Amino acid sequence: MKKMKQMVLPKYFKEIDGEIWLIEDERENMKLSYRVKEILSVSKSIFQQVSIIDTYDFGRCLVLDGVIQTTQIDGFIYNEMISHVPLLTHKNPKNVLIIGGGDCGVAKELSKYSTVDRIDMVEIDELVVQESIKSLPEISGDVHKDSRIRFIFEDGVKYIKDKKEEYDIAIIDSSDPIGPAEVLFSEGFYVDLKKSIKEDGLMVCQSQSPVFHKDILIKTQNILKKHYPIVNTYKAVVPSYPGGMWSFTLASLKYNPLEACVENLSKDTKYINKEIFRSAFNLPSFIREYLE
Ligand code: SAM
Repeated sequence: MKKMKQMVLPKYFKEIDGEIWLIEDERENMKLSYRVKEILSVSKSIFQQVSIIDTYDFGRCLVLDGVIQTTQIDGFIYNEMISHVPLLTHKNPKNVLIIGGGDCGVAKELSKYSTVDRIDMVEIDELVVQESIKSLPEISGDVHKDSRIRFIFEDGVKYIKDKKEEYDIAIIDSSDPIGPAEVLFSEGFYVDLKKSIKEDGLMVCQSQSPVFHKDILIKTQNILKKHYPIVNTYKAVVPSYPGGMWSFTLASLKYNPLEACVENLSKDTKYINKEIFRSAFNLPSFIREYLE
C-alpha cells in the first residue's frame, strides 16, 4: 500500500494494521470502508477536499470530502444511465446543459452522439475536472479535446438564474445534497432551471438511493410533478453507491421516455442497452408504493 509522503491525511483515511482504509461516513448507523492500494492525490479547493485513490475492489476513485463519487469499475453505469436516457427521450437534442458532472463522465457519454451540437458543463469546482482528466481517463475520456464541450466553472445555481430557453436537455449530475450541492435539490433551483429549458425540453437528476434516501426521492418527484406534465423515476444498480440501487428522475415538457426511440442508442455502451432502457422504468413495488 502506498500513501502520499509527508502529508497529514484527512480523517476519513484511517490506518488499520498498517493498511490505509477510506471510511465513508454514510449515515449515523452506517459507514462504508474500502481498502486503499494507493492515495494518488489529496488536494483542497475552496469548496471541498478532492482525492484520487486506487482501491482494491473499485480501482481508481474520485473522492470528494471523503465520499466516493465515481469509480473506474462501475462509474460507467451511473454515467450512461443519466446521459443516454434523456438523450434518447428527446427527439432532436442539440444543446445540452450539465450542472456538476466534474468527473466528466456525463460529458464523455453525451459526446458519443454526433447529433449533439453543444454541451455546456457548469461545474463549481475546476479542481475536480483537472484531477479527473489527469487521473481518471477511463471515466473522463477525451472531453478536453471535444470542441462541442464548453467548461464553465461557476455555481450552477447562479449560472441558470437569467437563462432563457436555451437548452433541449439539462442533466443535474450533482454530488449528495450537502455543501454546495444542497441547493441543487431545492424547488427554487428546479423552477429557475425550467426557464433555461426549451418548450419541448426535459431535465434529469440523480435522485439518490430509493432505499436510504426515500425522502429525497419523494420530494424530488413531488416538486417536479408540480412543474412538468411527464415525470418518471428510473433505476440502476451502482455497486459503489450506498445500497447499490440508485434512482434518477426525468421530468419532461413534451417527450415521454416510455416512448423513446431506443434504436438510436449509441453502440458504445457497457451497461445500457435497449432492454435496460425500457426495464429501468419498471420500479420495484416498494418504491412504486411510496411514490404513488
Ligand atoms: N456521480 C456522482 C454522484 O452521484 O456521486 C456525482 C458526480 S460529480 C463529481 C458532482 C459534482 O457536482 C462535483 O464535482 C461538485 O463539485 C459539483 N457541484 C456541487 N455543487 C454544485 C453547484 N452548486 N454547481 C455546480 N456544480 C456543483
